[in-house]
Amino acid sequence: MNWHELNQTDLLKTMNTSIGDGLSEKDVQKRLEKHGPNELQEGKKASALIIFLAQFKDFMVLILLAATIISAFLGEYIDAVAIVAIVLINGVLGFYQERRAEKSLQALKELSTPHVYARRNNEWVKIPSKHLVPGDIVKFSSGDRIGADIRLLETKSLEIEESALTGESIPAVKHASPLSSSHVSLGDLTNMAFMGTLVTRGSGVGVVIGTGMNTAMGQIAGMLDAAGNMETPLQRRLEQLGKILIVAALFLTVLVVVLGVVQGHELYHMFLAGVSLAVAAIPEGLPAIVTVALSLGVQRMIKQKSIVRKLPAVETLGCASIICSDKTGTMTQNKMTVTHVWAEGKTWNISGTGYEPSGDFTLNGEIVHADKHPSLQKVLLYGALCNTSTIVEKDGEMRLDGDPTEGALLTAARKAGFTEQFIEAGFHVIEEFPFDSERKMMSVVVETNQKERYVIAKGAPDVLMNRSSHIMHGGRTASFSATHRQEAEAAIQGLARQALRTIAIAYKKVGLTEKITSVKQAETDLTFIGLEGMIDPPRPEVRRAIKECRDAGIKTVMITGDHVETAKAIAKDLSLLPKQGQVLDGKALDQMNDKELEQTAENVYVFARVSPEHKLRIVKAYQKNGHVVAMTGDGVNDAPAIKQADIGISMGITGTDVAKEASSLILLDDNFATIKSAIKEGRNIYENIRKFVRYLLASNVGEILVMLFAMLLALPLPLVPIQILWVNLVTDGLPAMALGMDKPEGDVMKRKPRNVKEGIFARGLGWKVISRGFLIGLATLLAFIFVYHRDPNNLQYAQTVAFSTLVLAQLIHVFDCRSERSIFERNPFGNLYLIGAVLSSLLLMLVVIYYPPLQPIFKTVAVAPIDWLLIIGMSALPTFLLAGSLLTRKK
Ligand code: ATP
Repeated sequence: MNWHELNQTDLLKTMNTSIGDGLSEKDVQKRLEKHGPNELQEGKKASALIIFLAQFKDFMVLILLAATIISAFLGEYIDAVAIVAIVLINGVLGFYQERRAEKSLQALKELSTPHVYARRNNEWVKIPSKHLVPGDIVKFSSGDRIGADIRLLETKSLEIEESALTGESIPAVKHASPLSSSHVSLGDLTNMAFMGTLVTRGSGVGVVIGTGMNTAMGQIAGMLDAAGNMETPLQRRLEQLGKILIVAALFLTVLVVVLGVVQGHELYHMFLAGVSLAVAAIPEGLPAIVTVALSLGVQRMIKQKSIVRKLPAVETLGCASIICSDKTGTMTQNKMTVTHVWAEGKTWNISGTGYEPSGDFTLNGEIVHADKHPSLQKVLLYGALCNTSTIVEKDGEMRLDGDPTEGALLTAARKAGFTEQFIEAGFHVIEEFPFDSERKMMSVVVETNQKERYVIAKGAPDVLMNRSSHIMHGGRTASFSATHRQEAEAAIQGLARQALRTIAIAYKKVGLTEKITSVKQAETDLTFIGLEGMIDPPRPEVRRAIKECRDAGIKTVMITGDHVETAKAIAKDLSLLPKQGQVLDGKALDQMNDKELEQTAENVYVFARVSPEHKLRIVKAYQKNGHVVAMTGDGVNDAPAIKQADIGISMGITGTDVAKEASSLILLDDNFATIKSAIKEGRNIYENIRKFVRYLLASNVGEILVMLFAMLLALPLPLVPIQILWVNLVTDGLPAMALGMDKPEGDVMKRKPRNVKEGIFARGLGWKVISRGFLIGLATLLAFIFVYHRDPNNLQYAQTVAFSTLVLAQLIHVFDCRSERSIFERNPFGNLYLIGAVLSSLLLMLVVIYYPPLQPIFKTVAVAPIDWLLIIGMSALPTFLLAGSLLTRKK
């Protein structure tokens, strides 16, 4: 079908849709059944069976299985079956962990899929783009990613970057008129928009003509970028560490076997013990548990309203030393209300809150009628005319569709009687030059019923002053003299100092036949008419969040397009700006070279009147100074800075698709306090990973050492192979996972940010692993020696005591691992998962010791109650030896 050739009527008829009503739910259902969801097919995923089988591809596990088959041939059936069973259970656990990790990564991906605006049942609704069907009427604006293939119906300065399809990186200018049949290549189809391309400017409305694989993108499917790199630096480091540990474990195991054989043990027994030991000691599950800990943390973060798009960001979060945050909407509520209007030297106050159109105007404390004040009226009316937002009443509540700044202007106008109906009846917008943060203004060309044309502009007051040659004064247009400028400047400063966001309004009359097609034509030679000042209260939780960040060694920097004085007033209110702290504005920044900026930046707490392009320089300057920088943003132009930052943060509500895709973290509630929570969680996740690495490795060291010591001392085997495997299964599985879910230590936000280069064994962890592993091994061996010497004829009894001591020592040690300082720092019942895991591990140990049918399998005998004193004493010994944490604290 040649969609580009059709006119609007034929197009809508062919698609059986209407621009006003959109599709009905019934229609959507039918079309969805016919065309399927609007998704590109992805490559095949590994099946569950493959993932399960992959759990056994480990070299040592294969050797163990081979050894088991040999022992089966030698008649040791029970051993063989038990070992296979344990290996299987281990495999199931690994499989479960991996699936869980996989699933949460998938869920993450889905959470960050883009949403689009579609007209359904005569209403604009925001839906996930995969719910789009052919015939849907959609609208989009700068920053959006196009959700399907679309034939355009209306455009306003629309430009779309189509490099994903055409390779052309300069955005294409789009329009809605039919094209001739000679246009064939994608790049020529200027009245169409394609799935996956990016709106870089303006806005548009169109009808969906193709979805899913039935789009230009679908034909070259597989190009869509997934949610970025999913392996974190820590995971990579642990993988490398894993390799070293395998070699070390193998070496020690071989040593145990050789020593054992030299000491006269049977080769076959030693071989089986050695292989079991190797399987137990090699922390093959480490990467999977790390992934689980990361994804569990990520899920907790979702509950706290932040979505991690790139897993590595979780680690980097804990290293953040500077947060550069937008002001509007992130630190403030973005609930704007116009409270002041200034025009022709007078200032009116307006009462009322929110988008409710009721409130009084007062001048010098006296209530006045707006219709008696033409200059006030003009400011209000023009503020509503040069406006792309709408307010609709729904369920008795005023709801804004658009930008809060514009919502405030609309509401103020309504208070003076300039309703939407009034405006629609009298004025017709024929051209629009949308707002962008670079220009800091917007303008429209309007025609009145009296056939007069005006350009109306609104924007940052300083910008508009520069574009104005005249000013309204005494009801007349006067030239914008130096005195007038000073007066206007004083008014702007006055409003800004009260923390008000100020918007200036200006206009000019143009000829009916004059064609205004460019920003340059429209936005020069204007007549300045006045100012509207609006409050945007700070979010109440932000002040505390800033303080918590400061305590955690993280500096907060406000970055805003707003006026210096407004920004300063709000920064002071939030206690963000210290006494000697500096405020830098965009102009001063422009005059600095990169070196100067680096030097100045350290003392700057507020960057005001900056454009998105400045953000990139700011991030780079802080990074040059050695900081790990988190940077927020929402618009298309923010994307480069978000990408450059160590942690790029985008806004879930107001953020564009472009910003979201560039970011590694999305704030679902656009709230600064959420960044703090995410950092806290990021720190906690990393600490939790440290906790179970410490636990698993110390346990493994203990297991190897008890065997090694025994062989060195020419003792019998303190543990039989099946016991070694059991210890590994019981202690490594659940307790380690429960550590991954631990809550943060109380001082997690009192410590300085972690150094990015820090290795996993930093801050004494390596020492803790070795010293603790050594003590666990020693305690187990002492318990064994004591009981064995008491009754050398009952080796199985001594082995059971050693087995119990080893398990119990590890289960006590797991509580040690919850704190970087000492076991007594934390409430032992603070992690109920851990209590559950430890109790079930204990139970499993007791079952193996006391349940008669299992005794022959595990070569255990019932332990006399009195010997539990010994077992408990020996297994608690390491904790008490290290408890005063003299050894650890010194490190
Ligand atoms: P942040 O604090 O998040 O950077 P900001 O709103 O202060 O946000 P911009 O959105 O870039 O930054 O706005 C810069 C300036 O442009 C504002 O201070 C205001 O004067 C003006 N402005 C904002 N929104 C509009 C708009 N819709 N139309 C015209 N001017 C606007």
